[in-house]
Amino acid sequence: MAADTAMYAAKKAGGNRLAVFNEQMRVAVKQRITSEADLRRALDGPLDETLPVWFQPIASSAGGRILGAEALVRMRTPDGKILGPGHFIPAAEETGLVVPLGEHVMATALRWLMNWRLELGYVSVNVSPRQLSEPGFVPMVARLLAEHGLDDPSRLVLEITETAVLSLSDDLQKRLDAVKALGVRIALDDFGTGYSSLTWLQSVPADVVKLDRSFVSGLAGDVRKSSIIVAVLGLATSLNMTVVAEGVEEPDDWRALAAAGCPAIQGYLVSRPVPPREFQRLLWETPAPTGELLAL
Ligand code: C2E
Ligand code: CA
Ligand code: CA
Repeated sequence: MAADTAMYAAKKAGGNRLAVFNEQMRVAVKQRITSEADLRRALDGPLDETLPVWFQPIASSAGGRILGAEALVRMRTPDGKILGPGHFIPAAEETGLVVPLGEHVMATALRWLMNWRLELGYVSVNVSPRQLSEPGFVPMVARLLAEHGLDDPSRLVLEITETAVLSLSDDLQKRLDAVKALGVRIALDDFGTGYSSLTWLQSVPADVVKLDRSFVSGLAGDVRKSSIIVAVLGLATSLNMTVVAEGVEEPDDWRALAAAGCPAIQGYLVSRPVPPREFQRLLWETPAPTGELLAL
């Protein structure tokens, strides 16, 4: 492991170099081993406690009603600390543990959606490249939909990032088409952070575009940002996609988004991601009239 890390670093530095395993690498390897061990332990535990799924509202720009929720996984350590996904998703991706982890998140999100079916339109679940590359992915989604008895599969949205589909292989294209055939919706996550976004829009059968926070924060005072947003909104609309602006923290940015015609927002301004019980309270505080539930 240590030798691998040193070799990798040497290669990265330009081949033909002496591979020295330094202190920095030792720390990185140690962290990597620890986070893998923590993840394995968490996956063996009572999942609702060790890997709780929190929810962040996605609200209508116009009225602030909660339309949907993004499921965001956390890890609870044995001493009760809550860790964000940055601490364990990379290790989960590398080891393939993201496959069982992702299934837990999707099952939990569907369970809560059924629980809130009269108040909440949809749940949005992050799907990593590694999950998408598994041949068993689509059957797993189909099984979970059936198990939870979801009336309308479009109430499940799968969020994928550009890196997941950067080299859109035939297999992956078929898999995305099979997901669509289930009636599940696809969202392009972190839109605008990659470099082939326009090609991407054309090649992925997506329903939702999630505009990255970097385009959203400070929008109100930035003519260039607002021009980009107006252009993306126009493009998305003409391609029959809807748009969610992510990372909305400032009331001014929210007003600018609403004025530009962006239909939905997500961000600390509405709420941070919260545990299910707290999310339930948010739902009760802002009841959504039926009929508008699926309007995003
Ligand atoms: P993401 O999919 O882009 O999720 C949004 C992240 O932005 C969340 O971070 C959320 O807490 C944060 N956020 C939301 N509103 C605001 C805001 O107004 N301001 C700021 N500064 N941040 C905001 P979180 O929960 O730490 O998740 C980080 C990333 O981890 C996610 O980014 C996603 O890529 C990944 N992730 C989370 N849950 C899962 C999961 O179940 N499976 C997979 N594969 N990845 C996950
Ligand atoms: Ca996401
Ligand atoms: Ca995002």
